[in-house]
Amino acid sequence: MNYKAYTLRNYREIKQLNQVPEEKLKALEIVSRVLPFKTNNYIVNELINWNDPFNDPLFKLTFPQKDMLSEYHFDTINELILKNAGEYLINHKINEIRQQLNPHPAGQLEYNMPEFEGQTLNGIQHKYNETMLFFPSHGQTCHAYCTFCFRWPQFTGISDLKLAMKDTNLMVRYLKANKEITDILFTGGDPMIMSAKLLERYINPLLNEDIPNLQTIRIGSKSLTFWPYRYLTDPDSDDVLRLFEKIVKSGKHLAFMAHFNHFGELNTEACVKAIKRIKNTGAEIRSQAPILNHINANPNIWIKLWKKQVNLGIIPYYMFIPRNTGSQEYFNVPLVKAYDIFSKAYSNVSGIARTVRGPSMSTNPGKILILGCPEINGEKVIALSFIQGRDADWVLKPFFAKYNENAKWIDELKPAFQEEEDFFYVNEFYDLIE
Ligand SMILES: *Cc1c(COP(=O)(O)O)cnc(C)c1O
Ligand code: SF4
Repeated sequence: MNYKAYTLRNYREIKQLNQVPEEKLKALEIVSRVLPFKTNNYIVNELINWNDPFNDPLFKLTFPQKDMLSEYHFDTINELILKNAGEYLINHKINEIRQQLNPHPAGQLEYNMPEFEGQTLNGIQHKYNETMLFFPSHGQTCHAYCTFCFRWPQFTGISDLKLAMKDTNLMVRYLKANKEITDILFTGGDPMIMSAKLLERYINPLLNEDIPNLQTIRIGSKSLTFWPYRYLTDPDSDDVLRLFEKIVKSGKHLAFMAHFNHFGELNTEACVKAIKRIKNTGAEIRSQAPILNHINANPNIWIKLWKKQVNLGIIPYYMFIPRNTGSQEYFNVPLVKAYDIFSKAYSNVSGIARTVRGPSMSTNPGKILILGCPEINGEKVIALSFIQGRDADWVLKPFFAKYNENAKWIDELKPAFQEEEDFFYVNEFYDLIE
């Protein structure tokens, strides 16, 4: 199967769109001026239900919709276009709007790039002791773009927003100097956008050098949904699988961290085959996804998703709260509702699928899990705890926020029981990031 991308430039070639009202397409064009839009022939021809695209979660996965921008932002751009304001002015406005959409949630740029050998490493994030994120320069795009993507600034061409690195010697030296690191997580974008040759260029040094502390190589990828042919018919599919085998043979654990939002992504023959081929290399596939309004905000969807995953040999790993960025108003569900959906789904699957953790917020201080909404001494609260912290001592200490049915992120929560004070970690957190 030959890969064919569709963007704003050529998407009208998608013949299935002939049935879609022109007004919807115009809206799509306006939204995708601000947030990146890319889809492809696999998604269009094999994933989307074209009988009712505007109610199809897999359509909403990559096709921008009017409500993904605020009415105010949408109207602003629309009016400029109608007035023929000119590209310069329109682009200026677009960039202004992008800056208002919180392009760097959770202090990604400011706080997580390590200083090493006298330089700032802008392709590494080392926030939690054991796991280092690595952003290979060649893996900073995806086969398609999720409409809810929290890395959207990378794809919009605002060049100073890019995180990336290609110096593998530096990567190896950093790993050797930081012996607490057991895991490297290749992330992007999608590292599996890279050719086998490029992947080897990044991975071979990890296998050839003696780095005993490094035990697990993780690859975060949405390729099983966006381009499963990566493992089936691409010219270097077999080379990729041989590389996976080589990692496993070297004694490192290879964890393929797959991103699935909906069970519909697991239904195609291509996806099922690709999963089998990856698992046959000795890699494990774990799965993670955000909980999203309009796509999967329903326990039955998660039950089906996790059951199907277990059936295919995939290990459910994380349910995330989407970050407060981009089109969050459209996608984010309140924390209390996310917990309700998670607990209903979790309590209806076998223990084998309860490897999943969540719902979890990736905040600047750490990954915070919502544990539930108990009533304590007559006060209804939200119980929380860290599963990863900037300071490992914070992990698994329950703490409590005032009950808030509408809060969608930690910054909307206030500590329960005491009137003035902050959550227990806040002072230490400010000390740490100073
Ligand atoms: C989630 C995350 C990790 C990995 O955490 P695990 O709990 O080990 O999966 C590492 N670094 C950052 C910055 C993260 O957000
Ligand atoms: S796969 Fe990940 S990085 Fe790529 S568009 Fe989707 S959310 Fe963003």
